[in-house]
Amino acid sequence: MTDIQTVGVIGAGQMGAGIAQVAAQAGYEVILSDVDLPRAQKGRDGIIRLLAKGVEKGKIAQSDADEAIARITPVGEIAPLAGAQLVIEAATEREEVKRAIFTNVGPLLAADAILATNTSSIPITRLAQAAPDAGRFVGVHFFNPVPVMVLVEVIRGLATTPETVAAVEGFAGRIGKTVVQAFDAPGFVVNRILLPMLNEAVFVLGEGVGSVVDIDMGCKLGLNHPMGPLTLLDFVGLDTALEILNVFLSTTGDPKYRPAPLLVKYVEAGWYGRKTGRGFYDYSGAEPVPTR
Ligand code: NAD
Repeated sequence: MTDIQTVGVIGAGQMGAGIAQVAAQAGYEVILSDVDLPRAQKGRDGIIRLLAKGVEKGKIAQSDADEAIARITPVGEIAPLAGAQLVIEAATEREEVKRAIFTNVGPLLAADAILATNTSSIPITRLAQAAPDAGRFVGVHFFNPVPVMVLVEVIRGLATTPETVAAVEGFAGRIGKTVVQAFDAPGFVVNRILLPMLNEAVFVLGEGVGSVVDIDMGCKLGLNHPMGPLTLLDFVGLDTALEILNVFLSTTGDPKYRPAPLLVKYVEAGWYGRKTGRGFYDYSGAEPVPTR
């Protein structure tokens, strides 16, 4: 089985930086790459800030934080990824971007190296066609924020070998994550269940069945969820949620995934949630204020 010592991470955004951080903290050497060196360095700087906070709060020893940071090498080109036994792609959720990455990076890797993708919605079997060996291609779906969320979904494409799955599961275990396995289908396990629920919450809001507060409070107290669906949508990003629903709809043709009209309207208005300062709540003040 592939002996993983060095992990390459492609894309140093919120997910890639999180994956790099947990891998480095678990003792792996990490090559963190992005389209240019400043962006890769920005990802590493974010990790340095997070680890400093952990030290401040007494959760991590200064020496452990220093060692983890020293294991992360930011790079602006793909050549250094050749030294990795596992490369995890966490770049922008666009199929042509990901395909180009696999086409360019795949041939650099050793014959037993594994290529993995953190895609939220693009079929693994389809993406595998851009990799040199579909048997060594697999989905590893982390959750946001990566250092906090314990779950990793490992998704088998049609050709993914059991050895590849076992190697990735071993990696996930060593970085302290719990794995659930999924076969390649839109949304895998968790988003397949989550997105229709979030979408339904927007239908309920749009039909005037309940207010933002009624819906969020209802789900929190009635379902024992840590946060309501509209609060969660504001975290995820309404644009991202709409993108995922549209992928579900186009890949399955099943109308149960049709986006709620109010979700489409909010995205058209640029109300994407926390990242734009307004979604189902207004974030311009000290506390979020419900908008409907
Ligand atoms: P992000 O926008 O924060 O980061 C994406 C990064 O990829 C950026 O730094 C960008 O410069 C870089 N990038 C783009 N093209 C590249 C290329 N060709 N080579 C190298 N780097 C490139 O996005 P994110 O939220 O970190 O999402 C990344 C992936 O993780 C997506 O596939 C997304 O669907 C998936 N994902 C996101 C979440 C979430 O909650 N945000 C959860 C699970 C999975």
